[in-house]
Amino acid sequence: MSSRGSMPNTVVVGLQWGDEGKGKVVDHLAAHARWVVRFQGGNNAGHTLVVNGEKVVLHVVPSGILQPGATCVVAGGVVIDPAVFCTELDGLVARGVGLDRLRVSTEAFVILPSHRAVDAAREDALGAARIGTTRRGIGPAYEDKVARRGVRVGDLLDPARLDARLRALLPVHAHAMRGAGADPASLPSLADTLAWAAPLAARLRPLAADTVALLHGALERGEPILFEGAQGTLLDLDHGTYPFVTSSTTLAGGVCAGAGVGPRDIGQVVGVAKAYATRVGEGPFPTEIFDAAADHIRRVGAEFGSTTGRPRRCGWLDIPLLRHAVRLNGVSALALTKLDVLSGLPAVRLCVGHRGPDGQPCGAGRVAEAEPVYEELPGWAEPVAGVTARDDLPAAARAYLARVEALVGVPIVLLGTGPRREDLWIRPDMDPAAPRP
Ligand code: GDP
Repeated sequence: MSSRGSMPNTVVVGLQWGDEGKGKVVDHLAAHARWVVRFQGGNNAGHTLVVNGEKVVLHVVPSGILQPGATCVVAGGVVIDPAVFCTELDGLVARGVGLDRLRVSTEAFVILPSHRAVDAAREDALGAARIGTTRRGIGPAYEDKVARRGVRVGDLLDPARLDARLRALLPVHAHAMRGAGADPASLPSLADTLAWAAPLAARLRPLAADTVALLHGALERGEPILFEGAQGTLLDLDHGTYPFVTSSTTLAGGVCAGAGVGPRDIGQVVGVAKAYATRVGEGPFPTEIFDAAADHIRRVGAEFGSTTGRPRRCGWLDIPLLRHAVRLNGVSALALTKLDVLSGLPAVRLCVGHRGPDGQPCGAGRVAEAEPVYEELPGWAEPVAGVTARDDLPAAARAYLARVEALVGVPIVLLGTGPRREDLWIRPDMDPAAPRP
């Protein structure tokens, strides 16, 4: 058994469209984990942490890197832009964070400069029908993985293998550029790409590892593992609002494929949702609002993308979608963040049902056509930051939380009450970080 106690192996997963504030929840749990693992996605995610008053944005490195006792793993399910990753490493080193506790899977796939070019060219070509990707090459890199022509971190470390892989792959990217009406001559050449890769490979080499073997060693020794999800459930490739989704499995189930562990190795699933809803990019969002409440939420909640700076679309909490997300992930405990953002609104709304165009209830699969049915609750003026007991919250805020719990059917065990790391109420009898026998 680990000397650090035994928090169950835990998955933290976003229940909405990403940006739920998973970073802070992960940070709380990572203090009790021996391993912190990213299992999917790429540098389209951004975890923002506030540490000692300083803002730290992490894209690919697990937020557990700030916990001195944890080893961080970027597992094979992740796609890595080595240039962006190395810039992130530079930022950490500048803050005095050592990289000896960081491991990157040799099986993770690499985002090349030509993936970025193809991503941007395709979004431009789609015009009004665009997906709203971050144009960072993540989708094209996953496509090449599935098409069995991708480049892995292990290939990047072997110049001869990399040369051979690129010779097969770059013509495919040139073809994709032509298909999007863009000039293939604008792509980096083979020589350019090899020159780009060499110094990055040198930096990745000491971090590269067989992370499946590392994690199974941890499982055998009973060392607690935290799996850190990126994006959110409604952006899941299979179960999200397709086609306005990301290119990976964002659900808790994605841990098994992405990290190479079995379902029985997972002990609990903590789902993170905001006390309201936001969405970046295109796609259906039934509870989106455009009124003074939306302005309030965007301003007070600082709802601008941490990776792209794009203003986020804002709206009310959508209970049917939340319940669906709870089921898809097998969520055992709920972390509700940013309750403080609702302080000062005269009234708050909860979407308690969806009606389709024919007046019938709408399943999540038809979310694009859904018209929300709202329940309105009284607002509260008082700030909630620093609240250490749920009884100390304003009565209207308590009523809001109780209604959410009753409708969703899962207890709120963590509550975000402000942007700072310590602005977190933890339900004393149900702390997901607590050791279990
Ligand atoms: P993630 O991708 O799910 O980690 O979400 P982001 O990092 O993009 O968004 C989290 C942002 O919300 C960060 O700027 C946090 O400091 C902030 N945040 C997290 N929890 C709370 C909270 O409870 N209240 C407020 N006001 N901000 C929070």
